[in-house]
Amino acid sequence: MDTITALLSGALEEVRPLTDGATASYIPELAEADPDQLALSVVGPRGRVRSVGDEDAEFTIQSMSKPFVLALALVEHGRDAVFAKVGAEPSGEPFNAISLEQNTGRPANPLINAGAIATTALIGGDDLDARTGRIVELLSAFAGRSLWVDESVYASESLTGDRNRALAHLMRSYGIIDVPVELAVETYFRQCALLVTVRDLAVMASTLAFGGWNPVTGERVVSEAVARDVLSIMASCGMYDYSGQWLLRVGLPAKSGVSGGILAVAPSQFGVAAFSPRLDGYGNSVRAVAVVERLSERLGMHLLEPHENLAAPTVSVDSSPDGRTIRLSGELGFAGTERVLAILRDLAGSIPAGSTVTLDVRELARTHPAALAALEGEFNALPLGLRLQT
Ligand code: GLU
Repeated sequence: MDTITALLSGALEEVRPLTDGATASYIPELAEADPDQLALSVVGPRGRVRSVGDEDAEFTIQSMSKPFVLALALVEHGRDAVFAKVGAEPSGEPFNAISLEQNTGRPANPLINAGAIATTALIGGDDLDARTGRIVELLSAFAGRSLWVDESVYASESLTGDRNRALAHLMRSYGIIDVPVELAVETYFRQCALLVTVRDLAVMASTLAFGGWNPVTGERVVSEAVARDVLSIMASCGMYDYSGQWLLRVGLPAKSGVSGGILAVAPSQFGVAAFSPRLDGYGNSVRAVAVVERLSERLGMHLLEPHENLAAPTVSVDSSPDGRTIRLSGELGFAGTERVLAILRDLAGSIPAGSTVTLDVRELARTHPAALAALEGEFNALPLGLRLQT
């Protein structure tokens, strides 16, 4: 077992004794889940998947479908049209609350039920099959394999989903939903009943972590801009009315679902998913919360803590009889320009008069325009014979 898998396994065993909470029972089929199941999976930048525990256990995706259907709505309609129908604010209320803006009827955000039903209603297609088909196709691309609907969970939710129907009727009365209520909610119930494993969720999370590019299949699934929008909403609204506490303790965009799964995203680092069916009072899996919290702490994943290498390029310096060449590769962000300039200033003191310093930025994989402009400006102001290779 490699070191990271051993670390995952250790964290999993630490949370195994937690047996508080109960499986969701308002959807009768979910109450049947084996409450002792427990699994954790992590996917890194090269698409390596590491999973421990009940990694093959299948469960329905439930609310963890919501960020990905938001992604599809953004792809189909663009940000302004989507957020005209649904807000971007944490509701501070339970997932199934009647949390609609006064006067407009706009739901608070796309990750509570009302907002998710409104988002699902935006997906194009003539009928239930066509709409579900588009959703399944995109979620499958995020997961890197074809996903299927669990027909019995779907039937169970459809039979008992009156609260969601009521929310949809209210939103239709305000013009937030302009398709028939049954079409909107049945599409939503089918999306929630897609079967996944913890591994699928970790791959889906990793696709968001790497800007919409799936590191397992190598496929670009959505644009960086769409992935960033989805992560922004997950950061503030992904964990029901525990979202603020979660950001405080774990510091990662995440989404949970009433089947007991949580997916979390450490941008540019990892996609993470955990699964165990017993839920706390917020509707989040007790053990999944605990294990992702431990991982975030141990792997230093909290988004808001300082990161030494934030957008710092790799620097190599070559000397030749005509001068020095500084080659930058990797990513140049604003903080990175400071470090490069410090190296240049040191060189300015040590190279013989008349020789040239060349700054070669052709190998940079990613450059933030303001950072390059700042570097260029400062570079030209240095008392050196300088040449910039772009
Ligand atoms: N299908 C579930 C519902 O609408 C999803 C809830 C959840 O996972 O938060 O009630």
